[in-house]
Amino acid sequence: MELSELRQKPHLSASSLGDYMECGMLYRFSRVDRLPMEFVADSLVFGTAIHKTLEDFYREKLTGNKLTLKDIHRVFEKHWHETAEGRDEIRYAEGKDFKTLLMQGTDMLSVWYQRLPEDAFRIIGIENAFSFTLPGLPIPLVGAMDLIEEDDSGTIVITDFKTSGRSYSADEIDRNLQMTIYQCAAKANGFSNREIILRFDCLIKTLKPKFEQYYTVRTEVDEARLIKKIHSVWHGISAGVFIPNDQSFRHKNCPYRNVCDAWFLNGGDE
Ligand code: SF4
Repeated sequence: MELSELRQKPHLSASSLGDYMECGMLYRFSRVDRLPMEFVADSLVFGTAIHKTLEDFYREKLTGNKLTLKDIHRVFEKHWHETAEGRDEIRYAEGKDFKTLLMQGTDMLSVWYQRLPEDAFRIIGIENAFSFTLPGLPIPLVGAMDLIEEDDSGTIVITDFKTSGRSYSADEIDRNLQMTIYQCAAKANGFSNREIILRFDCLIKTLKPKFEQYYTVRTEVDEARLIKKIHSVWHGISAGVFIPNDQSFRHKNCPYRNVCDAWFLNGGDE
């Protein structure tokens, strides 16, 4: 089933869990009240266009066709135009616009293409939608893994494509919630008897673009922590507990800032 279909029914996901834990009101405005965002951050749209480009690269690779760098630039230009052109709701960061991000994306993809190591992994899934349930949780966890591969020894390598403004620390990689969810999803969907390695392929938007790959693994303790957190989040959502967190890194550029301010000025839910 496609991810869009899985999302039609009540569910949790890595991003909804992340939203709830980062700021309960952000979760409520977007996923309970379903309010339209006041703007869309350029980074979100840019990341989508890069993501679609990498997806196309691997779909071609699966058929035995390796796209050239020129192809990659052409594919990105197409996705960038389709995703961003003419959308007034996109809020560009200072000094950025449609054209500068087109150039930046092209540069970043050049670095990615030149630095991507050649490997003999076999592709077994691209944009693989998943759904799984946990005991005691009435709704499923859904999502999609960007890339699933297998090495010669049968180890599963799950990759998530990321576009970031900075490098990640080892600690951030090792504690990343999304990756723990992917490991649980893989185990629940036919890979429970395999070794699983998790990887971020990260295109970094520094002045001089960088490409970094980070490998990580998850233990039983990581899985147990995740399961407990998911139950706690669901308990909070079910009880209508949505705590605003204006200390969050999301606060400064929150797309619900005006509605959030109005909620406070009007006395909240009192
Ligand atoms: S403005 Fe701040 S407190 Fe309000 S929803 Fe957004 S992140 Fe949360």
